[in-house]
Amino acid sequence: MRGIYVHVPFCERKCPYCAFYSRAADRHSVEGYMASLIRSIEGFGDKVQADTLYFGGGTPNLLGAENIAEIISSCRKVFVLDNAEITLECNPNSSGLALFRELKDCGVNRISVGVQSLDDSELEFLGRLHDPAQALKTLEAAKQAGFDNVSADLMIGIKGQTAEKLDASIAELAGCGVSHLSVYMIKVEKGTRFDSDDVRSRLMEEDGLADLYLAVVDSCERHGFMQYEISNFAKAGMESRHNCKYWEREEYIGFGPSAHSFYKGVRYCYPDDIDGFISGNCAPVITDPSPDAFEEYVMLGLRLRKGISLEKLESFELPVSRYRRIISLAERFAKAGFCSIENGYLSLTPKGMLLSNSIITELLYD
Ligand code: SF4
Repeated sequence: MRGIYVHVPFCERKCPYCAFYSRAADRHSVEGYMASLIRSIEGFGDKVQADTLYFGGGTPNLLGAENIAEIISSCRKVFVLDNAEITLECNPNSSGLALFRELKDCGVNRISVGVQSLDDSELEFLGRLHDPAQALKTLEAAKQAGFDNVSADLMIGIKGQTAEKLDASIAELAGCGVSHLSVYMIKVEKGTRFDSDDVRSRLMEEDGLADLYLAVVDSCERHGFMQYEISNFAKAGMESRHNCKYWEREEYIGFGPSAHSFYKGVRYCYPDDIDGFISGNCAPVITDPSPDAFEEYVMLGLRLRKGISLEKLESFELPVSRYRRIISLAERFAKAGFCSIENGYLSLTPKGMLLSNSIITELLYD
């Protein structure tokens, strides 16, 4: 089953590490964006079924409940959205109980909160607009509004972060009723304000970060959040249905500047151009007209803890020598503790996930 993604390209202020496409919201741009967004959703030619709708960004809560309700209702006109998981990303400093109640009324049933850290100095370093108390209050408000599917983002890799401190934060989030965690290793993206030697000197070295990641995986699991993807952990049954579509190579249809799609075997995206999107001069562009199904299955599937199915691998009808090479490499990686081959699945261990790019490259290419 496919998913729908809506990119909301507005933020109050750009965080210094962030490379996602967004800019400051003003009334004129939001109105123009809404008109173009509704036009592009309602102009989508196929009335197909979807079971997830994801508002990502940017900071989708800045649109307010009325606009979110209008977008959901447009999606319902065009797509058959039965029993859909409807997620909205939000930031702690700009959302609260009143907004969550309205969002609940308009059909949102999953909230993802950009907590990032529960430490004052780390939040300051990350240039966030909230403090730990506000983050906890927002999670509390989501619970009070009746959301039982709440995710929190955390970032790791700042010097001074320790396994013990992160364990305490994860325990605190579990205590607030959070049912899902996304834990990202900070990466300095080119062209962001973080792209400086000063910032790099305040980030952890590779080895220390690898140890911290393994400790976090362990800590998440001790607090009931089972790892199901490199960066994602969930209580039983609370995995993000929408995000799983990316790794399971299911279809998704994106709307809004910078939104990506995978539909009818083609990958395409809207350009990073809010003004072009508003003026209607910014049609989606094809990024890959015929993605390689086998390569994508391996690359995306090995991000998942459950891994890739050996039966499915065989179904790609690879030359026998290529299939054998993959299996013999995987056996070597398994001996070294980087992957496992069990019950017909090849999967990376947490230690292997730290080297996922090199392992996948080795498996795929001679
Ligand atoms: S609020 Fe989120 S999307 Fe916006 S700049 Fe910060 S990290 Fe990026």
